[in-house]
Amino acid sequence: MTEINEKTDIKSLLPTELAAYLKSLGEPSYRSRQIFSWLQKGCGSFDEMSNIPAALRAKLAESCHLYAPKVIRKQVSQIDGTIKYLWELHDGNAVETVVMRYHHGNTVCISTQVGCRQGCAFCASTIGGLVRNLKAGEILDEVLFSEKDSGLPISNIVLMGIGEPLDNFDEVMRFLELINCPEGRNIGMRHISLSTCGITERMDELAERDMQITLSVSLHAPDDETRSKIMPANRGRGVDELFKKCAAYYDKTGRRISFEYAMIDGVTDSVEQAELLSRRVKTLSAHVNLIPLNHVDERHFEPSTPANQKRFIEILEKNGINVTVRRRLGSDVDASCGQLRRKTMEGKK
Ligand code: SAH
Repeated sequence: MTEINEKTDIKSLLPTELAAYLKSLGEPSYRSRQIFSWLQKGCGSFDEMSNIPAALRAKLAESCHLYAPKVIRKQVSQIDGTIKYLWELHDGNAVETVVMRYHHGNTVCISTQVGCRQGCAFCASTIGGLVRNLKAGEILDEVLFSEKDSGLPISNIVLMGIGEPLDNFDEVMRFLELINCPEGRNIGMRHISLSTCGITERMDELAERDMQITLSVSLHAPDDETRSKIMPANRGRGVDELFKKCAAYYDKTGRRISFEYAMIDGVTDSVEQAELLSRRVKTLSAHVNLIPLNHVDERHFEPSTPANQKRFIEILEKNGINVTVRRRLGSDVDASCGQLRRKTMEGKK
């Protein structure tokens, strides 16, 4: 059973596991439904559970870990209302969550790890390496507490915050089950996107689960030379292998893959790269989401010039590729991955 500090990690338990746990304490099954419903509302203490007898609350407080993330910083964009949270976890670590307001509903971008070990050369999240994996319950709380604090009902989730979701596979899968529970928050898999830098060994396992989520692959370069330079995850795996796994994923799930592609000046935005990218994604009828690179102080890359961006898009369109350019939300609140945690936590040292 999942534990934190030798106590049962109650927020990470699925309804059947929670029922079994409560049964082992001699409790009837309706108690488990009541407690699950509290936990899925964003709950930080057993004392909040007003319909649970005091004696049981005391017993649970002794044997279970229950903690509510605390807001360290909250920034609200004056431009588009994007909200960026920096949460303090039970052990003093911090992660970021962003709430974005789109016409099709509010979307929350959540972190899956404290830090990241993948080392992408343009990304702020990975600068200090990986500190630890998040538990499923902690990932769940990012959604629940952002919703509670902001008062904005969340309809979509993207796993595109700090961390590599496939490096924390079991907890991320457990989180997906938890958020999808009909007894709880019940967010449909079709409203969830998972983004990976391409941990190919895990992609088959993900395909096997045959979920309706959208898989986003952070490609950023279509050739091995460039990709291995800016994304260490490509070394020893390679773009051919990545596309093989993407094809297998599409075959198995029938879900089209979305490729994320950051346009970096003089690195990923050449005519040859636009042509190669088109050839590679064409066979998968995939979608390409172009991201104008966000400036990160510690990194030396610059976004492509408007003229080069335009040229790149025109080549993809001429080749019949389904392409969009990501709208930049929250540019005034450090909303790109890892920047707020880094600035705030560095300042504390
Ligand atoms: N580890 C996962 C998910 C987290 S990153 C992954 O790699 O997909 C979410 C997205 O933001 C990824 O596509 C990542 O490559 C991109 N990203 C990171 N830093 C960026 C920056 N400075 N500018 C633009 N995109 C960036």
